[in-house]
Amino acid sequence: MSLDGKNALVTGGGSGIGRAIALRLARDGAAVAILDLNLEGARQTAEDVAALGRGSFAVRADVASAADVEAAAREARQRLGPITILINNAGIGHVVAFVDTTEEDWDRMIDVHMKGAFLCAREVVPDMLQVGWGRVVSISSVAGLQGAAGFVHYSAAKAGIIGFTKGLAQELGRHGITVNAIAPGLIDTPILGKADLTRDVQQRMVRRSAVGRIGQPEDMAAACAYLVSEEASFCTGQVISPNGGMYF
Ligand code: NAD
Repeated sequence: MSLDGKNALVTGGGSGIGRAIALRLARDGAAVAILDLNLEGARQTAEDVAALGRGSFAVRADVASAADVEAAAREARQRLGPITILINNAGIGHVVAFVDTTEEDWDRMIDVHMKGAFLCAREVVPDMLQVGWGRVVSISSVAGLQGAAGFVHYSAAKAGIIGFTKGLAQELGRHGITVNAIAPGLIDTPILGKADLTRDVQQRMVRRSAVGRIGQPEDMAAACAYLVSEEASFCTGQVISPNGGMYF
C-alpha cells in the first residue's frame, strides 16, 4: 500500500499506538509529523521515521489547545507540504469512580479526546479539500462502544469520537476524504500503567478474550494502514474494533 508523496500528522506519536502508526505510515511511504505533549518521545519517533528514509519532524503541542495545534499544523505544512493524512491518537487514561469524578477530570478527558480531534481536523481538512484527497482516522476505544466502569468520562469522550467520525464522514465524502475510527481493545502500551489498570485486571480481560493475548500497537497500525490506503476509499464513517474478541 504505497503512501509515497503523502504527508501525515500523528498526534500522540511519541508513544504506544501512535508511535507504531507513525512507523507503519513511514514504512508505507509517507512523511510523518509527530505531535506530542512529550517532546522527547516525539523526537525519538521522528528519528526512527527519518531512519526509514522519510521526512519527519517532532513538535510539542497540547491537542486541547487551539493555539498549539494551529502552530504545529502550520509548521508541519511548511516543512512537509499539505497534510492529507490525520491520525487523531493522543489520549489519556484515568480510572475514577463516577461519584468521585471532578469537573476538572471531566473537562480534561473531553478536551484531550474530543476537542483535540476537532481542533486537529479543523487545521488540516482545508489541505485535504484543496488536494481533493484525505484520510482522517481517530482512535476511539471499546469503552466508547460498550462503556467501562471506572471510565465513564473516558467512555463518553471515546463515544464522542465516534459521533465526530460519522458526522465528518458525511460532510467530506464527496471530496475524496474518508473519516473512520479504530476502537482498540486492550493494547500493551504505557497508558495501562498511567490508568492504573493492574496486571491482574489485564490478565482477567485477556482470559475472557477469544484470541487469549493482549493486543500490540502494531495490531492497531495494521488496521490504520488499511484505512488510510487507496483500497479503503469506499470505507467511511466506520468504526473498526480490533480487540481480540475481548468484551468487558
Ligand atoms: P500512550 O500513553 O502510550 O500514548 C499516548 C500519547 O499521547 C503519549 O505520548 C502522550 O504524551 C500523548 N498525549 C496525551 N495527552 C496529550 C495531549 N493533550 N496533547 C498531545 N499529546 C498528548 O497510550 P496509547 O495506548 O498508545 O494510547 C493511544 C490512544 O489509544 C489513546 O487515544 C488511547 O485512549 C487509545 N486507546 C488505548 C488503548 C490501550 O489499551 N492501550 C485501548 C483503547 C484506546
